[in-house]
Amino acid sequence: MYTARLRQEISALDPYTPGLSIEEIRQKYNREQVIKMASNENALGASPRVQEVIARHASSVFRYPRGGNPRLVQAIAAHHHVGKDRIVIGNGSDEVIDLLLRMLVEPRTDTIVCAAPCFNLYTVQAKISGISIRQCPLRSDFSFDMDGLFALVDEHTRVLFLTTPDNPSGYCPPRSEVLALAQKLSAFPGCLLLIDEAYMDFHPQENEASLLALLEMPDNVGIMRTFSKSYGLAGLSIGYGLLPKEIANAFWRARLPFSVNILAEEAALTALDDAIFHEKTLQTVAEGRTNLTEGLRALGCTVWPSSANYLLFTLPDGLHASDCFQYLLQKGIIIRLLKSYNLPEHLRVTVGNAEENRLFLAEVKNFLQEH
Ligand SMILES: *Cc1c(COP(=O)(O)O)cnc(C)c1O
Repeated sequence: MYTARLRQEISALDPYTPGLSIEEIRQKYNREQVIKMASNENALGASPRVQEVIARHASSVFRYPRGGNPRLVQAIAAHHHVGKDRIVIGNGSDEVIDLLLRMLVEPRTDTIVCAAPCFNLYTVQAKISGISIRQCPLRSDFSFDMDGLFALVDEHTRVLFLTTPDNPSGYCPPRSEVLALAQKLSAFPGCLLLIDEAYMDFHPQENEASLLALLEMPDNVGIMRTFSKSYGLAGLSIGYGLLPKEIANAFWRARLPFSVNILAEEAALTALDDAIFHEKTLQTVAEGRTNLTEGLRALGCTVWPSSANYLLFTLPDGLHASDCFQYLLQKGIIIRLLKSYNLPEHLRVTVGNAEENRLFLAEVKNFLQEH
């Protein structure tokens, strides 16, 4: 008889916890309209130009894409004014993160360093690869303890993760702090500072906050971005990285040959070119972020300042996040409980369009009145 022999890392694994899907909630609560404000997706949906391009390329899906996504590499390099030889592309930044861990970190002997809590994917993929994880608690205001993070680095540390703006708080450190950390890390030549800028374009001062806008980036820094959020392509999964050349080169040798599919590549090319939709998205998010922050504060909630397309908040004293979460679900609004981030009394809501934001605030108000 066959006996499954799973690697110990896999048997012990707590999987990444995604936000609930609209379909799940529609069926469970038998509701026509369900609003999802749980996964930081685009407030305006998918760009009409992108939808048209996908339809136009539907007849090409019998073909394999060109290896190495050269057109998209070219477009991303031009967009950020950087050399093509530093760009990598993956099936979401998730694939980029996973593959970099497998490329750079020797299981059981090497370590990675990240904050606690942090974006769960870093630790889940590290565990799958048998990599030891060192975590430094965030400060109570959700800012990064840069000295504490640095103190966990030694000659076996291969990656230090920073998420700027951070998920789930929306906090973004000043660029000078990130550069100072990179500078100190250069004492450990084998350690890459991997900065996840998935939400950086939502930052009101992106050019002052992002390392990508620098002409001279430190040579021990890698930056990741994604088409899943501000470009509205979460369902197609395309992420990219700007990396030191040697790593970028090795990435393309190690990556699965066709992990970014034909429709995803066409969609990303158009999304990058569709500056009007992107700009509209940023504007909608900036307005919605202000409205939701003011609205929640007016209701007595504590809201953390956010540079991203979501807000971290807590309820007035005595009320429980899980009760509010359940109440909203029954009303057909999905937000995010943060148990998997070890923040059982915090909630995260994605900035929606004006109507979604209005409905969300109205139902939080109802919850507060009834409890
Ligand atoms: C959403 C998100 C990503 C993007 O993941 P994709 O695989 O590109 O969809 C990356 N990092 C963080 C912190 C995120 O929240």
